Amino acid sequence: MALSVDVVIPVFNQWELTDSCLRHLAAQTREHQAIVGDNGSTDGTREHLPRDWPEVRVLRTDGPGAFAVVCNAGAAAGSGDVIVLLNNDVDCRPDFLEQVVAPLEREPALGSVAALCTRPGGRQIDSVGITCDTTLSPFARLQGRPVAAAGSAAPVLAGPAGTAGAYRRTAWEQAGGLDEAFVAYHEDFDLALRLQALGWGTVAAPTAVCTHVGSASHGYRSYVQRRRGAFGRGYVLRRYGLLRGRAAPRTALTETIATVGDTLSSRDLAAGRGRLAGWRAARGMPTRAQPPQAIDSSITLRDAIALRRRGPEGQLAVMSPVSCSICETPLAEPTITAPDRLHGTPGRFAVAVCGSCGAGITLPPVSAPQLAAYYPEDYAPYQGRPHRVLGALSTGIRTWQGRRARQTAPVDAVVALHPGRAVDVGCGRGDIASMLAVRGWRMTGVEPSGAACAVARERGVEALQGVLAGVELERGAYDAALFRQSLEHTDDPVGDLRRIHAALRPDGVVAISVPNFGGWQSRRFRGHSFHLDLPRHRVHFTAAALERALLRAGFEDVRTSTSTSGVGLWASVQYRIFGRCLFPSGMRLHLATALCMLGLPVAVAADRLGGGDLLHAVARRPG
Ligand SMILES: [Zn+2]
Repeated sequence: MALSVDVVIPVFNQWELTDSCLRHLAAQTREHQAIVGDNGSTDGTREHLPRDWPEVRVLRTDGPGAFAVVCNAGAAAGSGDVIVLLNNDVDCRPDFLEQVVAPLEREPALGSVAALCTRPGGRQIDSVGITCDTTLSPFARLQGRPVAAAGSAAPVLAGPAGTAGAYRRTAWEQAGGLDEAFVAYHEDFDLALRLQALGWGTVAAPTAVCTHVGSASHGYRSYVQRRRGAFGRGYVLRRYGLLRGRAAPRTALTETIATVGDTLSSRDLAAGRGRLAGWRAARGMPTRAQPPQAIDSSITLRDAIALRRRGPEGQLAVMSPVSCSICETPLAEPTITAPDRLHGTPGRFAVAVCGSCGAGITLPPVSAPQLAAYYPEDYAPYQGRPHRVLGALSTGIRTWQGRRARQTAPVDAVVALHPGRAVDVGCGRGDIASMLAVRGWRMTGVEPSGAACAVARERGVEALQGVLAGVELERGAYDAALFRQSLEHTDDPVGDLRRIHAALRPDGVVAISVPNFGGWQSRRFRGHSFHLDLPRHRVHFTAAALERALLRAGFEDVRTSTSTSGVGLWASVQYRIFGRCLFPSGMRLHLATALCMLGLPVAVAADRLGGGDLLHAVARRPG
């Protein structure tokens, strides 16, 4: 009997991946209805979907919400006999649906089917469903093995992974779908156990092949991801009564090793806090049955520890964008990790380097409110003038810095033009904008800090509070635009450049300065580099990456150059020696800045050899 098929795809941003996923679905030999659960995307997914894929059903949630909630809503919206869950970073072979549904058509007692998910390149297995040991710790089954091993009967299959799996609707509905108490991770495993406890069989379909294109990027897991994984684990521990009964001693030992190990390697409490929260969330709930046929008792404690070290807990996040924000190439594992050395935000952050354009991308991706929380009240560019003893010195430095700024990139490119209208993106307290205003420019500033905006307005700048994506700029009205150490603070540099492109008149000029990720200081100091400034700097530009971003946004005549900041080298030396900033704000910062200026000649000499720590670009909107 031919069963009808719904394919449910939870999505949060990553339009290019979603588009690719849908293209592979459109080429399927098997008829189906694709249902996309758009979990609050902000990258154009919302506009693209109905225009490019009118035949796809779209459900919108305000998101980012739980994976389970989005999948359950998608399943409930359909009526197919089979529900296929698919991550948006999975590309399916044309016969994928045909192959994954076939076992359900042949065998009415089957409730679910696990597909073969390969890693990019197609030679290694990313997973063939989920397996678990006696402590109900789930692992991506056969991960890392060659695809020839995909038909292997061992280890025991617990059920499909949410990355790519098929469920009989009757079974799905009998189990009540995914348990929405999970935030992310372990929910597919939990469903696998419940389906088996209800008597539904499961099978692997190694001929149903798809590629998990995002799998290369999941080596790094953020605090939030690890906490969610630990939450799921804590919840499972209690719901399945794992700390009682025969498996209790091994479970307790495993959990201790996992929690201590994660705490030491990550230097935060995600593993412990998450488990505790998950445990509490399961309080008072009935204990779920452990189906013995779903458990592989041959996986030893030693195997389990090795598996855990290799892969993340449970299945992989679908909710995190993992492609380059400039050229959209999928990113490999991060090669730099570092804490917030300036303001001490908890956790460690990472930078993955794009193999195509050379840009560094800060991970994990964060929402706008999270990003805003990375800027403390006393963030230096927002500070007022200091008073008392050293006020005069500070004013002197500022005056000198202002004169220097006028003569150097990127401001010199604007100063060279006939005065007109200009927009300064990330204008801070209006230091530069007010200086240009004095020289006859009508200045608009864009600045997220309300306090900084108020100061800028007093100084004659029309300051708009917010980020570029959130403010209204007149279109085609500006002669010049300035990004002075601001473009690296956005997750969407190409989008921001497009917005500025639209605001400029034809032949209008954009001038940009960002830290130089391609310079010798970045290469030498890596995670100790001052300009990395994690997690506030989201994109780390090389000259090639900055040029690519400008060209993609529609600019022409891109010219790049580098220079020496004076502060960068000495601050990086400080990070290397002390690990953090000793002068984050206030008067000590001003004094330290003054000392750095005395060391400027040394830095300039070094930069002659390997490129400066600042990168500049000037480009033109075509006429
Ligand atoms: Zn790139």
